[in-house]
Amino acid sequence: MNRQDFPILERLVHGHPLVYLDNAATTQKPQCVIDAISEEYVSVNANVHRGVHYLSQQATEFHESARHSVCRFINAHSPQEIVFTRGTTESLNLMAFSYGERFLSEGDEVILTQMEHHSNIVPWQMLRDRKGVVLRIAPIDERGTLKIEEVEKLFTPRTRLLSICHVSNVLGTVNPIRQLADMAHAHGAHLLVDAAQSVPHFPVDVQALDCDFLAFSGHKMYGPTGVGVLYGRESLLDAMPPYQGGGEMIARVTFEKTTYERLPFKFEAGTPDYVGTHALAVGIDYMKAIGMTRIHEYEKSLTDYAMQRLADLPGVILYGRTDDKDAVVSFNLAGIHHLDVGTLLDQLGIAIRTGHHCAQPLMERYGVEGMCRASFALYNTREEIDALADGILRVQRMF
Ligand code: PLP
Repeated sequence: MNRQDFPILERLVHGHPLVYLDNAATTQKPQCVIDAISEEYVSVNANVHRGVHYLSQQATEFHESARHSVCRFINAHSPQEIVFTRGTTESLNLMAFSYGERFLSEGDEVILTQMEHHSNIVPWQMLRDRKGVVLRIAPIDERGTLKIEEVEKLFTPRTRLLSICHVSNVLGTVNPIRQLADMAHAHGAHLLVDAAQSVPHFPVDVQALDCDFLAFSGHKMYGPTGVGVLYGRESLLDAMPPYQGGGEMIARVTFEKTTYERLPFKFEAGTPDYVGTHALAVGIDYMKAIGMTRIHEYEKSLTDYAMQRLADLPGVILYGRTDDKDAVVSFNLAGIHHLDVGTLLDQLGIAIRTGHHCAQPLMERYGVEGMCRASFALYNTREEIDALADGILRVQRMF
């Protein structure tokens, strides 16, 4: 779908046409996003907010209209609920620091799951070490499905937050967020969703999901690197203290006392990546023009096809066989190290990711050091999955 919009897909790697299957790590960029970045530097660039001159006002307009785009894209109530960050990782660190400061005390509990990315584990561990917060870990079954009844059992009167990925970056498991939101709220807790692997792939509506917070990255959704989002319910964000101090986030500073800006600016210290936010909005428009449901259906058909092709090959061990699975296929080849698989496929121009995928506890759950991962975007094709399957056979013949 729309391959011609992505110039990088034309290039050769080691003399072969590029087969790019590392989209869960980052997606390639369509020409319109690349143009938006260079056009802003060519004709608009100036620092945003409070500038009275023309360029500053235009750049501010681009930046703030990007906030409105993101707001509409995830159906937030208001742009005040959209905090721009560097990416999912920074959004989650902001949460651990700022939510942690306001809502968590020693002995309070946060529930995570076995399938979390390190960025939804380590900030909470850092908070645990600072404040004595208790982390509880919800298990998954062998197929990679969250054990919902076990999650329910982890709630206690001290549970304040459930923080969970919408889609696992390793297993592709799509978690039932609305059900988990209802569960968390019934126990008086909040729900934070790591949506790094969902927002790029299917419609995400924070009101329908009823989540309290949601984090995602621009670079995984055809946008630029270095820009991401934290959505939060206005009343909760309002109650949380700033995460970093500096310019842009203050109302008034004296040496005795500083008052902070209103939402969302109090969480956005320093010059924002205003070129990035504008380009992110262009990327969002690009996806919307294709249609998120259409993207989802197409990628789902690719995922199903890949699962079927790889399952038919001898010696392929597949991880993540849930019914609701999205755009990620992880596997190992019996008797061959994952790094060898990745290196040899690369020689054929096929880019997959190998290693622990920033999910070492999940690797431990499956008793492996690492896995190979093919992950899909709207521009991938069945022919590329066939190339992967042929590549796997060639790798196996070398051993
Ligand atoms: N969470 C999940 C599920 C991810 O897949 C990733 C990136 O791979 C992240 C968080 C971190 O995203 P970023 O590196 O863009 O901050």
